[in-house]
Amino acid sequence: MPRKSRASSIPTPSIDVAEAIRVMSEQYGPFPQEPRLDPSHELVFTVLSQHTSDTNSERAFQGLMKRFGSLEDVAAGEVSDIEEAITHGGLAKIKAPRIKMVLTRILELNGSLDLSFLSEMPLDEAKAWLRQLPGIGPKSAGIILSFFLGMPAMAIDTHIYRVSKRLGIIGPKVNTEKAHDMLEAAVEPDQVYPFHIAFITHGRQVCKAQRPLCKECIVAGNCPSREELMALTEGKAANNVGESKKGKSRVSQVPHTFTTEDSKQ
Ligand code: SF4
Repeated sequence: MPRKSRASSIPTPSIDVAEAIRVMSEQYGPFPQEPRLDPSHELVFTVLSQHTSDTNSERAFQGLMKRFGSLEDVAAGEVSDIEEAITHGGLAKIKAPRIKMVLTRILELNGSLDLSFLSEMPLDEAKAWLRQLPGIGPKSAGIILSFFLGMPAMAIDTHIYRVSKRLGIIGPKVNTEKAHDMLEAAVEPDQVYPFHIAFITHGRQVCKAQRPLCKECIVAGNCPSREELMALTEGKAANNVGESKKGKSRVSQVPHTFTTEDSKQ
């Protein structure tokens, strides 16, 4: 029986994070770490991936490297040429100057685009260093530090954020910036990678934004949001049936526990 909320729609944490990681890893794992780009390339890729699909950002990145050959040459290139090279990725007018700015700033601060020195820094300092770059938020900084430099930094995407809130690991009003710090403190350093992949997978496959599959959920027994979300989901389904019988279109009303967080961050 899940514990009751402290107040309406505020879930009380009733799940141990390490246990959640273990259960989800058993269900969805194993999670072998895949080889990735180097950190500077990833920073550029991060800019290219904003508000577009993986396929488009990949195409834009390939276009950029085909045109310039190296990121040093991109940094020295004209914004208009960068824009042309990434045109297939969408929002090229915004992303081209952003890429130029990021690379130029790294060169100003570091003298080269090699970011491996960050792994020698304390985690907070490494995060702060990356966050001073234009357009680099906590998620992008976390990705660079954890996936490319092997540091125990959190990278909270929309799925991790949603699942963590529903499981009561973070409160409903915690913003994404604060969520990075809280989850970093809650997860053991060597569990950051499995946590990341397990929670994203769970959010994509089961704990979906609009219609979470609570009946199929492997951590449902410890989820303080389960009852409320099941009631809402079942209520919505019943309403849909009723409305379609009446032959009327139904204006979608998003319950307060369903947020628009599933958009790209
Ligand atoms: S799917 Fe339902 S039961 Fe499972 S974590 Fe999400 S809200 Fe909780």
